[in-house]
Amino acid sequence: MPEEIIKNVFRIPVPLAGNPLKLLNSYVIKGEDKSLIIDTGFKHPDCRDALINGLRELKIDIEKTDILLTHLHSDHSGLAPELAMPGRKVYISRAEIPWMFGESRTARWKEDNVKIVRSGFPMEVIRAHLTKAPSRDMSPDPNFSDYSPVDNGDVFSYGGYELEAVATPGHTPEHMCFWVESEKLMFTGDHVLFDITPNITLWNEVEDSLGDYLESLKKIDKYDVRLALPGHRETGDFHARIAKLLAHHDERLEECLQVVREKPGSTVFEVAGKMKWNIRCSSWEDFPIGQKWFAVGECHSHLRHLEKLGRVHCDYSGELFRYTAI
Ligand SMILES: [Zn+2]
Repeated sequence: MPEEIIKNVFRIPVPLAGNPLKLLNSYVIKGEDKSLIIDTGFKHPDCRDALINGLRELKIDIEKTDILLTHLHSDHSGLAPELAMPGRKVYISRAEIPWMFGESRTARWKEDNVKIVRSGFPMEVIRAHLTKAPSRDMSPDPNFSDYSPVDNGDVFSYGGYELEAVATPGHTPEHMCFWVESEKLMFTGDHVLFDITPNITLWNEVEDSLGDYLESLKKIDKYDVRLALPGHRETGDFHARIAKLLAHHDERLEECLQVVREKPGSTVFEVAGKMKWNIRCSSWEDFPIGQKWFAVGECHSHLRHLEKLGRVHCDYSGELFRYTAI
C-alpha cells in the first residue's frame, strides 16, 4: 500500500523475503510527463508484485518512468533492468556501473571471494555459502548494461522537485544520496538508516571504505535536512543519528584494536569472532554463514581504517592477512 509522504512523493514498501532488513522503501515521484522510482527491490517475484501493484494504485505509467538507484546493492537495484522500458533511463553513480553487469561484475565477485579467503574464512564454509548466495542470485540481470551515469552535483527534475546527487561513498564505493533543497528533504539510501546500522564492508578498489563512510557522514551533516527518507525502516532525527553513527564506529574501532592487542597476528576472521555482534546467537560458531560474511567484512573495514590511522600493521606477505597493533 503506497503512502504519500509529501505531494507527489510516495513510499512503496517492498518485502525482502528471508532478509533481516525485512522491507525496502521504494520511493516514487509522480510527475505529469515523467515519473521516477528511487530503488526497486530484489530481482524476485515478491518484490516485483509489490512494486508493480503500488505503481498501479498510484496510476503511474511505467512507460514514462525512469529509475534512480542510490547504490549497487541488489535489494535496491535487482529489479531495475526488467522495469526499465525502452527509451527510459536507469541512473546509478558512474563508479558503480562496472559492478552491475557482465564480465566486470563477475571479475569483482571473484576478487571478493579471494579477499574473503585471505580474511581467514574457512574454505568449506565459503563454498557452501557461494552456492546459494541470495544477494547474488537476486542481482540485476547480468545482460542489461544500459545504465546512465550519475555524478556528484547532477540534478534530476520530477514531479515539481529538483533532486541533487550528493556522493556519499562508504556503504558502497560511490553511494549517492539525493537532496531536495526546497523541501529540506534527503533520500539517504543506505547511507543513514535509523534503527539499524548500515553495514560497512571493505570494497575492492577502495583504499579505506570506513574512512570514506565517516567522511560522507560529516559531509551530509552540513545539509539542513528536516526529513530523511532512508532505504529501510523508519525515519528519525537526522543529525542526532549521524552523531550516533560516528560514535558507534569510534567504539567499534577501539574494540577492534583491543582484540588485536590481545592477540598479535590475528586474521580478520579471528578478530570478528571476538567482537560483540548485535545478533541473537549464543556464540560465533552459531552465527548463520550470511551473518558471518557481513561481520567479517565489517571487521575488515575497521581493521583497514586502523591501518590507515597507523594504529595497526597488516602483514600481506602470507596467504592470510594478519594484523598486529602498533
Ligand atoms: Zn545497501
